[in-house]
Amino acid sequence: MHDVIIIGAGPAGLSTAFWCDELGLDTLLLEQAEQVGGQLHRVYNPIENYLGVKVSNGHELLERFTHDLDAAEFDLWTQTGITAVDLKARRVSLRSGENLQSIAIVIATGVRPRELGIPGEKEFAGKGMIESGTRDRQLFAGRDVCVVGGGDAAVENALLLAEVCPTVTLVHRGKKLRARRELAERLQPNNCVTVFTESVVTRILGDEEVAAVEIQRKEGLKPFQLAVRGVLIRIGVEPNSELFREQIDTDEKGFIAVNSQQETSVPMVFAVGDVSNPVAPTISSATGAGATAAKVIAARLNARLGS
Ligand SMILES: Cc1cc2nc3c(=O)[nH]c(=O)nc-3n(C[C@H](O)[C@H](O)[C@H](O)COP(=O)(O)OP(=O)(O)OC[C@H]3O[C@@H](n4cnc5c(N)ncnc54)[C@H](O)[C@@H]3O)c2cc1C
Repeated sequence: MHDVIIIGAGPAGLSTAFWCDELGLDTLLLEQAEQVGGQLHRVYNPIENYLGVKVSNGHELLERFTHDLDAAEFDLWTQTGITAVDLKARRVSLRSGENLQSIAIVIATGVRPRELGIPGEKEFAGKGMIESGTRDRQLFAGRDVCVVGGGDAAVENALLLAEVCPTVTLVHRGKKLRARRELAERLQPNNCVTVFTESVVTRILGDEEVAAVEIQRKEGLKPFQLAVRGVLIRIGVEPNSELFREQIDTDEKGFIAVNSQQETSVPMVFAVGDVSNPVAPTISSATGAGATAAKVIAARLNARLGS
């Protein structure tokens, strides 16, 4: 029996574990991946908006996190597959057959990139699918590319690729781009970026590598093929909450509902970080939410001991 089991070791889970340890709680942190860090592994851009810290990418920030966690005494189990969770009983069943129990559970499972779910998307992973404009820009220099999406991340990546690619075609489902105005305005004078709104990519085509995308412009019009050698998809994120959805209140997209103390609809079950749909899904929000959850849990446990 642990005081706290935390599920997910991104910035939110790591911060929760750090704070629980500081507060003297017996804590177990479970991570399904080989390494802790979550989305930090996908941040190739400099991080300059986490107050007091300037680092050139997510790995560097993660190194600082883990350095500071070296002295902490919580248990960390990586590569841990969870098969079932009973939130009311606060019981976690592992693929190894083990059953764990705690007084509080903190869900810190974050989000994953949303997929288009079209033919070619998975098949061409590593063969023309661009993971990051920052990281892969030089690899795709001189090639025509397509970016799917209309938010900040899609437009930022289109602008980055436009610095080195002859043409960038930005394909967006909606009538208007969702990106903030100053970013969208930078697209206007950029001759190598073409924006297709009210359009969808329906297939990614090629032999060994990406060679073209099929684009459907407006309902009813015939799809056409556009020759490109790289495709980057940025159409938002989905919460990693499938394991809990039947037992807990979520919004219509599956983000876990929490109050200002990070409490969910189930007593002594908390959710922190991107999975709880913060107004600003950032490292600061994630680490701050972890501190809040840990403080609330410690106060509840102290109250129990005192009563
Ligand atoms: C390209 C990119 C650039 C970014 N740039 C910035 C920036 O400059 N500044 C900033 O503040 N933020 C930035 N962010 C956002 C920031 O990385 C996230 O807000 C932050 O990582 C959220 O932390 P989290 O712990 O909530 O979730 P995540 O980082 O998503 O971590 C969740 C963890 O839970 C694990 N997990 C999921 N399901 C399970 C399960 N069933 N069992 C066990 N473990 C599980 C995952 O493997 C993962 O390790 C960026 C994100 C991206 C993708």
